[in-house]
Amino acid sequence: MNDNDELLAQAFKTLVRFEKNLRRAILADLNRGYGPLWPKKIPSPTLESCEAKRDKHLQAGWGPGRESMLLDYADFSELASIIDYCWNVFECRFGNKQIVLGRLEEIRLFRNALMHSNMRPADCPRMIALCEELNGKCTLVLEEIRPPKERPPRIKVVPEKMVQEEVLIADEEALAFFEQMKRVLDKMSGQLEGEFRALKGYLLQHIARCSPVLLEYVRDKFKELPSANAIVDELLEALPPPRPSPPQAQWRTKKWISWAVNQYIPYKQWLIKHGQYDSVVEEQGRKYEEWLYKLYPKMLAQTGRLVFGTYTYIKREIDKGHRVLWVLIDNLACFWSPILIRALLDNDLTPSEGPVYQLAMLPSETSISHTSALLGLLPSQITNNDIIGAFKEAWHTRGVSNVHIVSSLDELAEISQYDAELFLFVYNRLDHLAHTPDHQLDDREEEIRFVLSKLASKLSLAVKSLAELGTVRLVISSDHGATKLYEKDKKLDVPASAAEDETYKEHRRFIRTTQLDSLNSCDWFTLPADRFGLHDDYAIVKDAFFISSRPLGYTHGGLTPEETLVPLLIFEPGILPRLDLHFEQNSPPVRPGRPQKLSLLVSNPFPLAIEGLEIVLPEYGVRFGPLTIEPKTETTTGERQIELPPKIPVEGGVTYVDLTAIFKVAGVSSSQSTKLKLKIRQLYVSEIAEEFGDMF
Ligand SMILES: [Zn+2]
Repeated sequence: MNDNDELLAQAFKTLVRFEKNLRRAILADLNRGYGPLWPKKIPSPTLESCEAKRDKHLQAGWGPGRESMLLDYADFSELASIIDYCWNVFECRFGNKQIVLGRLEEIRLFRNALMHSNMRPADCPRMIALCEELNGKCTLVLEEIRPPKERPPRIKVVPEKMVQEEVLIADEEALAFFEQMKRVLDKMSGQLEGEFRALKGYLLQHIARCSPVLLEYVRDKFKELPSANAIVDELLEALPPPRPSPPQAQWRTKKWISWAVNQYIPYKQWLIKHGQYDSVVEEQGRKYEEWLYKLYPKMLAQTGRLVFGTYTYIKREIDKGHRVLWVLIDNLACFWSPILIRALLDNDLTPSEGPVYQLAMLPSETSISHTSALLGLLPSQITNNDIIGAFKEAWHTRGVSNVHIVSSLDELAEISQYDAELFLFVYNRLDHLAHTPDHQLDDREEEIRFVLSKLASKLSLAVKSLAELGTVRLVISSDHGATKLYEKDKKLDVPASAAEDETYKEHRRFIRTTQLDSLNSCDWFTLPADRFGLHDDYAIVKDAFFISSRPLGYTHGGLTPEETLVPLLIFEPGILPRLDLHFEQNSPPVRPGRPQKLSLLVSNPFPLAIEGLEIVLPEYGVRFGPLTIEPKTETTTGERQIELPPKIPVEGGVTYVDLTAIFKVAGVSSSQSTKLKLKIRQLYVSEIAEEFGDMF
């Protein structure tokens, strides 16, 4: 035997001894913590896997005896998963969870190398040292171990897969809240209505930090109370959309806009609706403001992104030979555009393409942004007071002379009697409504829903009557969005130099001034007229600040995403087809019973972009996305870890798992539930023998 053989043999012996001691220690602690029912407390996939291996072993006639002990059939990673899962009974033995799990993982990798005869002798001393270190802990006599401090966990604990999901979707704060609440729940009896009511109140107050997993814990804890299920379901309903991921300063415009539209704005809308405040998300909004403020002067040179370039989209449709009905809606915030899109779909109109998102002219206010969008000019270029005259003239120079201005909602049904290439309808009702504060008796959102559905039905009539004359496109655009300010938001004094005009009084988000230098840069963005394409110098408050008094309804004029981003929609007569995406496995066959990598290929066969696509395999807590898939293309997801149960039914090398996808099409949320076909790599008996080799 040479030195290397000697080392390998020693490593092997140490490992065998260590595994034996580890199993003994785990069994002792499980018995100590849970009594003879301990098998019910270990992760159920581990239990099932051990039982299956034991049964097989016994059937094969390898004799009873020691083999009947369940833990002897747990492989190395299963032993580690038991320690992880039932940590409170192992805490006094091992001390630090992360350290012991890290050590076990290191030993596991060495062990695999050793079993497959590719262990480097140079690694042996490290492995021996690790085993000896843990051996010391494993052989502590039982008397030295204090009983677990808290009462043992309940019989049914949340399956591992849910915890994995939690880690994937939650940010650190939500996780900390989750841990904190778990400790609180462990101290509760779970039997008292009063206890449950207090908990519900607390959770409602902190609903932004709650997660589905946490609420399932709560359901389980209070399962003996008759009211528990209904109340937990109610809390689940109130859960927020996922918290936005942190934005990155170096992002390109497209990425910023997609982040704001798909992540930030839905979350912000939820915060407003539930009267919640989230300082982290406020901070994210601030980053967006800084980004937009810096980039805006450069954007003035391009027509694509700002609302003054809306005419280019309309001209493009006219050039294709379509009649266009252009509806310019004052204050169609992204909060409300899904309501309008839904209503248009219900009226048999269908999107010709996904929404484009445009940025308001600054300050994001009607007198500036609306006229600019209408005429296709920068505010500084607008000299004519006769807006309608200027509008017709602008289109005349673009080669479109037959323009008709629709004067009222009722006139829409009759517009086909006019021979025009372009129809314009300006709709102001939404802005008036938005500025009106909520009242005890009437809910603003309900009213907005009502007027938008009425508008959609009138637009549908107009489009259908125009369609009798030839092809037609409905283009809906806006000038600015809106936000709602909180009582706790910062109040600024009116600067002495501010001009006292009506728009300032209504919005309280910006001023016209002649003395930009006197404003401090912590509270104000300054907009010198020459750099910002304006007639006068303006200053806009940062964040959710307000000037002098807080507007009670929605307001605008600032730089937040919800004030500055607006949709541009292009619709045509027709019915939206049912959108079914196609999902396929894009990674090698999965081996059940252990963590494996999985990625998917997703195809979008439709002429509309799929946005904010999230794919969930709910049984396994696996989540992909959010993703965007351009029309008629396919894309691959990132890799995620999945662990199928060892006994999953397999036929012809495949199994099927549930898949749920949520996404947005043309700004409207949609979902799809289907089965995902997974290719399975099955284990052969020889491989099993190798895994649980003749160690002893
Ligand atoms: Zn307004």
